Amino acid sequence: MSIQIPRGTQDILPDEISIWQYIEEQARLVFKQFNYHEIRTPIFESTELFQRGVGDSTDIVQKEMYTFEDRGGRSLTLRPEGTASIVRSFVENKMFGLPNQPVKLGYIGPMFRYERPQSGRTRQFTQIGVEALGSNDPSIDAEVIALAMTLYHNLGLKNLKLVLNSLGDPESRQAYREALIEHFKPSINEFCSDCQKRLEQNPLRILDCKVDREHPAMKTAPSILDYLNSESRSYFDQVKKMLDDMGISYIIDPNLVRGLDYYNHTTFEIMGEGFGAITTLLGGGRYNGLVSELGGPEVPGVGFAFGVERLLLALQAENVMLPINETIDCFLVAIGEKAKEKSVPILFNLRNAGLSADKDYMDRKVKGQFKQADRLKAQFVATLGEEELEKNIINVKNMTTGEQEQIAINELEAYLQKHLQR
Ligand code: AMP
Repeated sequence: MSIQIPRGTQDILPDEISIWQYIEEQARLVFKQFNYHEIRTPIFESTELFQRGVGDSTDIVQKEMYTFEDRGGRSLTLRPEGTASIVRSFVENKMFGLPNQPVKLGYIGPMFRYERPQSGRTRQFTQIGVEALGSNDPSIDAEVIALAMTLYHNLGLKNLKLVLNSLGDPESRQAYREALIEHFKPSINEFCSDCQKRLEQNPLRILDCKVDREHPAMKTAPSILDYLNSESRSYFDQVKKMLDDMGISYIIDPNLVRGLDYYNHTTFEIMGEGFGAITTLLGGGRYNGLVSELGGPEVPGVGFAFGVERLLLALQAENVMLPINETIDCFLVAIGEKAKEKSVPILFNLRNAGLSADKDYMDRKVKGQFKQADRLKAQFVATLGEEELEKNIINVKNMTTGEQEQIAINELEAYLQKHLQR
């Protein structure tokens, strides 16, 4: 029996890779524009990092982690998200002591969660995200949201909905927590077993439950916005005003609590078209307690992450055509043994000069070589026969216009450089 790819994972094949590379390029471009610097952390970390960082009561930690023991008896986990690792690295490398504050970081890489695979939900997926550590200024919350919107806009997405909420500071969150316990307690037996556990562990997460979404007590639940103290309210108002000033529209959803434990103040999601319905493309928020929770000083942070796979579904749903150039500059057609031999150094020179070029390796007839040039979308085809070789010339055809010219072999590179459309 042949071995198959593990459930919930996918190969990204060569004919799909340009889209991925384009998205990554656009992300790096926006990182640069907003002055975020890429960081790469390991794909596995100590299990404890996620238990403490992501939160013991979250679905991720309780049900979804790929945890294993290495040969040295250490418990390691394939990272289910990026923030905890980045905060670990921030603390370990004492980035809080750098003169350049806030520390603005971006990342691109695979994440792993043992979830039930379905469209838009896989066990290995790729997240692109940013984290800004060290600033309590509401303009940095607005900045990370603006960065996300800019990237999606640059990629050509139009049907986006930015959803915003505030979970307030720990004092507001605590007051709200108590109100939620009070509210849900009388009917908690009618809720799923997860929610029953959540009541004491993290009652905010009940609002996020997919199973009990329609329970009447959900609709009458108190709103966090009524529990924000004046500082938290003012912080949220400033973030909203800055988004207004940048012309970024949003809607407020007081039930947006997000699945991870570490959030406070601003939380946000960007919804878009996905697999037949509106879906969450991106999630983020402020996490002021996380750095100290992971052994660092009291340093605030804010960030987001989105999945590239879901972004691809949204681009598809909106029929966005990405400007991807899949052509090669020149294909060399050689006729006869001597010409074939000569085509090797000619090709080598073209490539060394920075051009993309290829030739036949399958002993194809002339017609077959031209077909191959077509398949590769070659902009030019250079044909070398015995006769041309004797005169040291080569026949060059512009495949877009159909024009042909004979030029000296040693002028081929300069000719292509002059006529290629970039
Ligand atoms: P989270 O880290 O749970 O806040 O998720 C942020 C984003 O990552 C989501 O909005 C998705 O775009 C993406 N994402 C999360 N989990 C998965 C998954 N299992 N498969 C594909 N994408 C995912």
